[in-house]
Amino acid sequence: MSDGIQQSTILVVDDSESNIEMVLAILDNYDVIPATSGKDALELVESEHIDLILLDILMPEMNGFEVCKKLKETENTKDIPVIFLTAQKDEDSIEAAYLTGGVDYVTKPFKPVELLARVKVHLELQHLIHKLEYLATRDSLTGIYNRRKFFELAEKMFSTYDENLYAIMLDIDFFKRVNDEHGHDAGDTVLRKTTEIISNLLPSTSVFGRLGGEEFAVILTASADEKVIHLLDKIVSTYANTKIAISPKQEIQCTLSCGMSPRYRYTDSIDELLKEADAALYEAKQTGRNRRVIRAERR
Ligand code: GH3
Ligand code: MG
Ligand code: MG
Repeated sequence: MSDGIQQSTILVVDDSESNIEMVLAILDNYDVIPATSGKDALELVESEHIDLILLDILMPEMNGFEVCKKLKETENTKDIPVIFLTAQKDEDSIEAAYLTGGVDYVTKPFKPVELLARVKVHLELQHLIHKLEYLATRDSLTGIYNRRKFFELAEKMFSTYDENLYAIMLDIDFFKRVNDEHGHDAGDTVLRKTTEIISNLLPSTSVFGRLGGEEFAVILTASADEKVIHLLDKIVSTYANTKIAISPKQEIQCTLSCGMSPRYRYTDSIDELLKEADAALYEAKQTGRNRRVIRAERR
């Protein structure tokens, strides 16, 4: 069993303490959290990171189907695989279990090897899905969001926040020279380090993506323009002052320029917001680089 899978956390939901004890004994290699009611289970998924759920069907107050339906309706929990673990053997229950979003159905009494095998299969599948999701949404060089995922998340931010929304475009100054003078690998190192420096300064709720080449974009919310301006000053100055090791013996320093635009009343799409930020970036390049420019409101 790979380490990644063994470190998984499994939530076991059953109103019978003895059933829970039995499952705990079988899954003793895993981190298992017990819950004796649907309500407790729904609370636990809010506070704990859960990789897989073993769910009983017949429970007082809230049955397993209702719990599963709630899990699947909630953004943060909808992708956690649910295996029903139940004494119910009738076809209607089996059908309802899959219809509400269960991935598997194990009937009691079950053989320990059977439960272990199914748990392992679903954890491995989940692990693989996460890996594929990561690969499909990240820029392979820097690990930040790729263009497609960036736009997807940026659109979401745009439809959620009518105000206090900001777009930033960033571009490394004279980056072509880095490649020309030090080689493409050194350029790649600079790109990785650049995203690391910026990531460390951005609020955790920001959406940060590589749009292409050495061009990056951020969408974020803030309570006031001044906060974003302060953040940009910090990014520009920190970046200019950071020595980047392109080889064990050589360090270089680069600068970057950025343009920012707040969402104004007339900004009617994410594309327009980014275009405004891009116009500000263009101005930053034209007026000397190593700086930030804020796009003013059109009156
Ligand atoms: P400016 O200050 O006006 O932005 O000038 P610049 O040289 O940074 O901009 P320009 O757009 O002329 O050049 C960008 C360069 O970025 C050209 C391209 O070879 C390089 N580049 C794009 N993607 C990558 C990459 O993934 N790795 C490396 N090493 N270089 C890249
Ligand atoms: Mg550049
Ligand atoms: Mg460029």
